[in-house]
Amino acid sequence: MDKTLRIGVLAVQGNFREHAAVLRRLSVEPVEVRLPEELEGLDGLILPGGESTAITRLMRLYGLDEALRSFDAPIFGTCAGMIVLDREHLGLADIRVARNAFGRQVHSFEADLDISDADGPLRAVFIRAPWIEDAGPDVEILAEVDGHPVLARDGRILVAAFHPELTDDTRIHELFLNLVREASSVGA
Ligand code: GLN
Repeated sequence: MDKTLRIGVLAVQGNFREHAAVLRRLSVEPVEVRLPEELEGLDGLILPGGESTAITRLMRLYGLDEALRSFDAPIFGTCAGMIVLDREHLGLADIRVARNAFGRQVHSFEADLDISDADGPLRAVFIRAPWIEDAGPDVEILAEVDGHPVLARDGRILVAAFHPELTDDTRIHELFLNLVREASSVGA
């Protein structure tokens, strides 16, 4: 049985509108999350890119950091959202992330990622992007740039150093939705 997925998008700062737009394109109605109670009943949550310092501060202010530690559905963090999930922040993904690892604003760039997909490489937009500096043994590295992991999965957590919400290619969001469907059918 296919039920309608409820996917939240953390909407305190950053690219939440763009993620919501991709979800709508994939026929999923997004739920904007600013308060802990808005996490209730969600099948998954997206933490958008933006400014990780601001996102961390606002999450703490609204009590979302505590709430997220007990949220047990799949989470997809992009760019700043990936930073927020690492060992030094929420600690939900067994990764250590280096901020602005590719350099500052001038080093924003696009790259074609090999994501081992039959439909070919994925064009990815990197903006003051982080990379994964260290990953635990259970973390699956799904793509790299110059030997640096930029897409990875740690169980129910998916992280991307780039901005899949800024291109027309919806494959990474679809990957996340598949993870959500998998998790909700196991949990049902
Ligand atoms: N450099 C930003 C940070 O450290 C992340 C950039 C982004 O999300 N595009 O928070």
